[in-house]
Amino acid sequence: MHCASPIKRRQSRKIWVGSVPVGGDAPIAVQSMTNTDTLDVAATVAQIRRLEDAGADIVRVSVPDMDAAEAFGKIKQQVRVPLVADIHFDYKIALRVAELGVDCLRINPGNIGREDRVRAVVDAARERNIPIRIGVNAGSLEKDLQKKYGEPTPEALLESAMRHVDHLDKLDFQNFKVSVKASDVFMAVAAYRLLAKQIEQPLHLGITEAGGLRSGTVKSAVGLGMLLAEGIGDTIRISLAADPVEEIKVGFDILKSLHLRSRGINFIACPSCSRQNFDVVKTMNELEGRLEDLLVPLDVAVIGCVVNGPGEAKEAHIGLTGGTPNNLVYIDGKPAQKLNNDNLVDELERLIREKAAERAEADASLIVRG
Ligand code: SF4
Repeated sequence: MHCASPIKRRQSRKIWVGSVPVGGDAPIAVQSMTNTDTLDVAATVAQIRRLEDAGADIVRVSVPDMDAAEAFGKIKQQVRVPLVADIHFDYKIALRVAELGVDCLRINPGNIGREDRVRAVVDAARERNIPIRIGVNAGSLEKDLQKKYGEPTPEALLESAMRHVDHLDKLDFQNFKVSVKASDVFMAVAAYRLLAKQIEQPLHLGITEAGGLRSGTVKSAVGLGMLLAEGIGDTIRISLAADPVEEIKVGFDILKSLHLRSRGINFIACPSCSRQNFDVVKTMNELEGRLEDLLVPLDVAVIGCVVNGPGEAKEAHIGLTGGTPNNLVYIDGKPAQKLNNDNLVDELERLIREKAAERAEADASLIVRG
């Protein structure tokens, strides 16, 4: 019931992170990262399960040492979502988690050191069809590049990324994706634009250390929005100093706003004013909280009065328009039911769930496509 996305995505080579395709014609994957102590297996598994419930396609887990690698193996056995192990420098950790079933290695080949060690990691990845994510970050650029460019720049980020890519190229390993993150929106966007022209592999987008829930969401939406609208990006991570579950929700909301994914409810709500015939803000917030578990794509309009109500409600699968003495619910664009302000949220929730079930029954692939 809304415009199809006009975005033409950059054609990238598809890779697989476990069972999840990234790049090519695959939906843009939404990922997050655990912030528990990886050694605390129970807490990490619990957090990953919450991320799975929120719809995470991929989850990254920090693996700083060999004890964490063993814990990673136990975690891996208890969750369904594909796991990326985040490793810095120590190639032995990469080899161990490869044995333990990791779905993707986040490790920069240029930081591993000796060539035989890089080769050992690449061989292990090749043998098990495990992709590698090269992750360049403006905050940890190589010293010589800092010196050459004076400060982090998009060109410096690109040069760093291409060095790592060259390591893999030399070993004829193409099963990788790349990120060039910066906390500055313009720097990250410029770096990704450069990178998109240089390689055919999928790009993992992120504005690193974006900030807290509100500021980081806005920064990520602006930065990733610019890139995604140009067709750049195959998987995204929203970095927030907040509960990682929020990163998944924000990630899906960004993709939904660009019509790149359609998982769950797309709410259309007016900001309300003195013309409202029911409490729009309260109704909207309650519905959003109650319906987070719904996966079926559905447009729901919550509009306070007849000024914009009928127009928006008619375009939605379910639309509520405020009125006196009763509010009016539209279903599939047609006036269907009057509701007064008592039990408004309960009734709406019921109608929305019914509609979602009906749509899922008619087309089960709606959930998968989301
Ligand atoms: S739709 Fe009605 S209630 Fe909502 S903001 Fe507009 S005039 Fe106010």
